[in-house]
Amino acid sequence: MSEPFILCDGLVKIYKIAGLEQVALRELNLSIEKGELMAIVGASGSGKTTLMNILGGLDRPSAGRVRVDGQDLLRMSDSQLNRYRRERVGFVWQQSTRNLIPYLNAIDNVILPMTVAGRMRHGKRRASELLELVGLSNRKHHRLSELSGGEQQRVAIAVGLANHPPLLLADEPTGEVDTATAGLIYDTFRTLTREMGITTLIVSHDPGIARQVDRVVAIRDGMLASETVRQTVLRTPEWLAKNGHAPEGDGSHHHETFEELVVLDKAGRVHIPPEFLEQLQIQGRARLEITDDGILIRRVEEAATANERMPNDGEVAQESKSSGVRSLFRRHKAGKKA
Ligand code: ADP
Ligand code: MG
Repeated sequence: MSEPFILCDGLVKIYKIAGLEQVALRELNLSIEKGELMAIVGASGSGKTTLMNILGGLDRPSAGRVRVDGQDLLRMSDSQLNRYRRERVGFVWQQSTRNLIPYLNAIDNVILPMTVAGRMRHGKRRASELLELVGLSNRKHHRLSELSGGEQQRVAIAVGLANHPPLLLADEPTGEVDTATAGLIYDTFRTLTREMGITTLIVSHDPGIARQVDRVVAIRDGMLASETVRQTVLRTPEWLAKNGHAPEGDGSHHHETFEELVVLDKAGRVHIPPEFLEQLQIQGRARLEITDDGILIRRVEEAATANERMPNDGEVAQESKSSGVRSLFRRHKAGKKA
């Protein structure tokens, strides 16, 4: 099997401020294929920007492995990492002021990074092509102040791609625009990812993001917690009509559904959403049971908690008989006997 375009393996990032350690990423694992359009979601402070900065060569991890396009970012010298950042990565930030020079017009903003990289030849032509791809060919000579927020972000995307990077990173690019404008910006990302064969990662807070991209992963507390998968199911025309969905142009009955799946790491760890634990008042320890349908995580009842000892054979056998559920302890014991 060939290596994915991006591979993060046990990525750890610890910030030290005034002698205090702040863990921003704790053994994050993630792989992304070439040409994917991915979204990363997660609460504020969960580590999204830290991950983007590491993938973009703006920061180094404290431990773990990170490879992009076959290159090991940890093994790079500072000058190699600088070059990687300039040539291999395009950035789009939330505030358009961080992406653009306000007193230049759109096309000069796109030409600027090419000039800096010493690629002036065909600069104007390439900049025009890029502005056309982001749907702004009629705004080329407008100053930034004459463009709307959404248009400015689309110029920023063209700027990010000026030097042909294979990877485009966007940190909350729709954070300062309305929903309709955000939709246009996602359309632009989709077109570019498809037409230029690049790989795009977008940090997003938009609730409907799963419809806009190929894959969504959620980061919680510095780790990959869940992944939303898209499935296409065949529905009857009656079902579509009843649920307010029109059949597609060719009359087919495909319907997309989205399901958020929890991610298991190599050690079998999963992140249980805090709201689930709260609702069931599970904390500290829980009982793990294998049922016919899967694995059940149960609250440990008060009596059992007070009585702090491992269950003996008799108790477990009784429990499994009464509930029809096999507990892990019993499985271990059965395994030993065999
Ligand atoms: P997000 O982008 O998901 O909001 P960040 O990656 O910015 O999260 O931050 C993750 C954690 O790391 C937070 O607890 C944040 O306070 C901390 N952090 C981020 N950058 C720094 C920094 N430069 N110095 C110290 N702590 C930081
Ligand atoms: Mg952030």
